[in-house]
Amino acid sequence: MILGCEERNLENQTKLLTVDPDYRILSDEAVLVSGRVLCWNCRAAIEVICLYCQTGFVDGEATLDFSVSNVTAVDESLRLQLARWPNFHPLRGRSGSNAGFANHCPSCDKPQDDFYLHCQPGGIFFSFQDPVAQELRIHALQGLIRCSGDEGFEP
Ligand SMILES: [Zn+2]
Repeated sequence: MILGCEERNLENQTKLLTVDPDYRILSDEAVLVSGRVLCWNCRAAIEVICLYCQTGFVDGEATLDFSVSNVTAVDESLRLQLARWPNFHPLRGRSGSNAGFANHCPSCDKPQDDFYLHCQPGGIFFSFQDPVAQELRIHALQGLIRCSGDEGFEP
């Protein structure tokens, strides 16, 4: 950044770095958290993942420690890193930019609704303080990632 710019210019520059018209959420300290649940449909033990940002920006606001559910869009960097989890992909049969991502059961292919994983007490990603959270594994993500979805905070 060039020193001596007018303050207004600096503000604009910061905005440019933290606001992206295509993505609500930016983070350069994001991880993927994975854990095992039983598929609600066929009861197979399956791996599910959740995006978690230690620091980031939501709609341009600096934000700490939030998970992202109901992901609707990911940038190229995140898409490539998500390739390790092929069962996490956009819901099939829904077109348009709002086709959300979900974990899918590798046995029966049913989507595992983020609502139950994130928003219900006892859901594996409901609280990372939970005893069940000790079963979770953390996978570091490289570099800046951008995505759209719903930010969530520890209850
Ligand atoms: Zn299943």
